[in-house]
Amino acid sequence: MAIPQHLTKIVATIGPASRSPNVFRRMVEAGVTVARLNFSHGSYADHAKTITMIREVSEEMDVPITILQDLQGPKIRVGELPPTGIKLIEGNSITLIPIDPNQTSDRHYADAITIDYPYVAEEATIGTQILLADGIFELKVTGLEGNAVYCEVIKGGILTSHKGVNFPSLNLRLPSMTEKDQQDLAFGLAQGVDWISLSFVRQAADVKRLKSLIAEHGKTDISIIAKIEKPQAIANLEEIIAVVDGIMVARGDLGVEMPPERVPMIQKHIIRRCNEVGIPVITATQMLESMIQNPRPTRAEASDVANAIMDGTDAVMLSGESAVGDYPVQAVEMMTRIASEVEKDASFINYPASRTDEVHAISEALHAISDVIDFRCIVAFTATGYTAILASKERLKLPIIALTPSINVYHRLNLVWGVKPLLLEQEVNSFEMVIQQVESYLIGRNLASQGDRVLIVGGIPMGVQGGTNFLKIHILS
Ligand code: ATP
Ligand code: MG
Ligand code: MG
Repeated sequence: MAIPQHLTKIVATIGPASRSPNVFRRMVEAGVTVARLNFSHGSYADHAKTITMIREVSEEMDVPITILQDLQGPKIRVGELPPTGIKLIEGNSITLIPIDPNQTSDRHYADAITIDYPYVAEEATIGTQILLADGIFELKVTGLEGNAVYCEVIKGGILTSHKGVNFPSLNLRLPSMTEKDQQDLAFGLAQGVDWISLSFVRQAADVKRLKSLIAEHGKTDISIIAKIEKPQAIANLEEIIAVVDGIMVARGDLGVEMPPERVPMIQKHIIRRCNEVGIPVITATQMLESMIQNPRPTRAEASDVANAIMDGTDAVMLSGESAVGDYPVQAVEMMTRIASEVEKDASFINYPASRTDEVHAISEALHAISDVIDFRCIVAFTATGYTAILASKERLKLPIIALTPSINVYHRLNLVWGVKPLLLEQEVNSFEMVIQQVESYLIGRNLASQGDRVLIVGGIPMGVQGGTNFLKIHILS
């Protein structure tokens, strides 16, 4: 089976439309490299089953698949609604009331929506704007009484359970992680997820707190993505980038918390900063939104995906399209086709080294050498993944075959632009072995042919953090 060879990575949110092994397998064949599990939705039983399914498909197909656990963070959501949702009719009134923490059953109200934030009635005033479901529906506060908030429906439609609620004008009292996030984290770590993304990050301290919670669970090699979707995160972008392993431009809430017209330039700025520093960045939300219902995207959506790739994003993401849409496989195929097309023509920017160490120096050299002669691919020997991530930062239009002895790194790297992870069966501790492994993996797996020139980077001995110390131009024999 030939998996598409484009360099941009594709993240698919897995949900009811995509968690059967048959559909998921087709999505991987179509080019998915990262499976995102959104812990705002679904039960632990569902997620556990999905994770087992993903690992089985990965093994059976012999391809790495990154599992990204998305923690919902302090997002306010509506509670349980009837299975068919409720209809919000423009001009009608609707009441928001806090979910009663003592009530575990999912009680429904006819003319009220429960939300999981207890202080709205204290903080809202008459006229406060409330947005629901990524800003699709809009309410305006018309009255306050006890903990009830009376609203008029300004923009209506069918609202379903657990959709997000935003109060763009209010600065709410929220922790960086909720009780639920901490339970979800424990669950995810026990399940062996590869990356963890945290929603509604506001400052570096939020990331550090997640890191220390992960350390309390005895784990150190889990990578963290900060989802940028709050105005505070834009203001604190540099301190967040300095402590995090990856970034997601979470345009859904970003475009609700801030005017949508600001999102495109913010997206470009965030991607550029991640490219400069050398951490992976995902562009997310509504990329092929109309494919939830249609087998083909709008021209504007195709353009949006293409532009994010030209901006330098590592990965493009599907949300509802793959989680609940009618065309999950087609949506992946579409992204692959757009990526392949863009990559043919686009030139990607190579930024100077962001640090003065050996790994950065050798990565820069990759670029300088490939300006002079052509290569079939880069081969990176990497125990932690760092060498491969920095090789990716060069944005050479070449696959980076990452050979690693670590199954965790093998899965984790499939989020990074251009990187094709392969699992080494043994540690490689001599230069002779490096050459022998390159020959056997590349030729054995049809990744290159005899006579092809490749650029090999790595460190001997392997496994030393930051120990990248060689670069070899090699002709396969
Ligand atoms: P976020 O703000 O984190 O993106 P979201 O509610 O927008 O949260 P997405 O991950 O973007 O959720 O997924 C889009 C929609 O797909 C969700 O609103 C939900 O209706 C559905 N969905 C996603 N994951 C699941 C799941 N595991 N089970 C059921 N429905 C899901
Ligand atoms: Mg979100
Ligand atoms: Mg979303």
